[in-house]
Amino acid sequence: VLRARGVRKKFGDIEVLRGIDLEVRPGEVLCVIGPSGSGKSTLLRCFNHLERIDAGRIWVNGELIGYEQHGASEGTLRERRPRDVRRQRERIGMVFQRFHLFPHRTAVQNVMEGPVTVKGLKWAHAQRQASELLDRVGLADRADHYPAQLSGGQQQRVAIARALAMEPTLMLFDEPTSALDPELVGEVLGVMRDLARSGMTMIVVTHEMGFAREVADRVIFMDEGAVVEAGRPDELFTQPRHERTQAFLSTVL
Ligand code: ATP
Ligand code: MG
Repeated sequence: VLRARGVRKKFGDIEVLRGIDLEVRPGEVLCVIGPSGSGKSTLLRCFNHLERIDAGRIWVNGELIGYEQHGASEGTLRERRPRDVRRQRERIGMVFQRFHLFPHRTAVQNVMEGPVTVKGLKWAHAQRQASELLDRVGLADRADHYPAQLSGGQQQRVAIARALAMEPTLMLFDEPTSALDPELVGEVLGVMRDLARSGMTMIVVTHEMGFAREVADRVIFMDEGAVVEAGRPDELFTQPRHERTQAFLSTVL
């Protein structure tokens, strides 16, 4: 589903991503862990072209993200037209730490928004689909509530339903539970676990090591803009090979 090769990104003089290579296969759940500032969020943002990359290539579903390749020469890349970037983003769901729901729309209206305005779905059809998605994240009885009337965990579940409404082939999560009160974390992780079991391809930046251990097919540890270590969770958590991974895990486990 996703392939990254030699992805580099600088902010000013600071190289935040120093040549990332990554592969995510259909149905795979990849968890990304690492210290603050290691470039995890930046990497996710590059995957849907919220950030321009300075070097490298990213393909999602076989299509080069953000750029068009010209002629025979490998080196020449031209940025895609905004319209094409938008089309590429439609199939990549993203859920952030903050929920970013529309405050003046109800839960069901938030979920319908994308399908109606972007995909041109008929109102009734979109509403039916949105209701089903809210049911799937356990919020059938909250469809007509406004974001302010929902808990943080419920708002985040609406945000997940909203992303799913666009029928993504890949879901990106950037610390989806780190802004939540501890007692609300479980319900969001539960929805994500169900999603993983349903076969969704997911990349999850998280500090929830228990979740990574249980749900991830593969875990990567990032530090200073590079992938230091990658492996199955049972390997990486119990026998980290790299010293920096060991040091990081000893502070969070
Ligand atoms: P955290 O765990 O705290 O979320 P992270 O691993 O997600 O950290 P990033 O947010 O990707 O880290 O940031 C990596 C580095 O890039 C940091 O040093 C950060 O200060 C810098 N950075 C991120 N965004 C920008 C920006 N828009 N302009 C300048 N520097 C940035
Ligand atoms: Mg981050």
